[in-house]
Amino acid sequence: MKIIAGNWKMNGSRDALETMVQDLASVKSDNKVILCVPFTMLGAKSGRVAIGAQDVSAHTHGAYTGEVSAKMIADTGAKYVIVGHSECRQYHGDTNSVVRQKAELALANGLTPIICVGETMDEKQAGKTMAVIESGVRESVPADVNTDIIIAYEPRWAIGAGLTPTSAEIAEAHTLIAKTLSDMGLAGTPVLYGASVKGSNAAEIMSISNVDGVLVGGASLKSDDFIPIITSVK
Ligand code: PEP
Repeated sequence: MKIIAGNWKMNGSRDALETMVQDLASVKSDNKVILCVPFTMLGAKSGRVAIGAQDVSAHTHGAYTGEVSAKMIADTGAKYVIVGHSECRQYHGDTNSVVRQKAELALANGLTPIICVGETMDEKQAGKTMAVIESGVRESVPADVNTDIIIAYEPRWAIGAGLTPTSAEIAEAHTLIAKTLSDMGLAGTPVLYGASVKGSNAAEIMSISNVDGVLVGGASLKSDDFIPIITSVK
């Protein structure tokens, strides 16, 4: 079984989510499907699809206008939340330590955090990919958790760009993440690959060892694009 998670970013509508849920209802697959949607769509009926948010406040409650707490997300019935997505790191300045705080609050409120790590193009060109990935995992993952977390390796230069690393590069990154998690006592934690996944490359990516599923942005918005990814692997 693989995990196929969609990230709708700031796209879609409640109607679009209802249509997607209906379209996915008849898909024959044992894979776990998660849709991470904007806050306004949380709480919608979702059938076999598990729902997640795309970010969470690093604070528990109080005077943080515009923010949404982990408790509030859990209150909608959502089960997952993405933390440390590249766009939150880039536009909101989320650091590994903020990502870790968010992941801790998610866990404390019964949500499974999908913790994103990955290198920028500058870091890649400077030969720092492996160091950034390892520190991303060590610094963003809360200590003393059981395995109720998911990691997503998302090379930041490839997100939304139609670019993907080579299979060898993905394998190298996922092997390092699996080893780092094992060192941290978290062997068995699922690790997703994300960035420019589509129907035509999903099966190959998910055949790489230590790739337990995918996190899909653009291609999760329409069922014609998303369903082929879900059905590309058993
Ligand atoms: C993402 O936003 O997490 C992502 C992987 O985007 P895309 O699939 O569009 O590259």
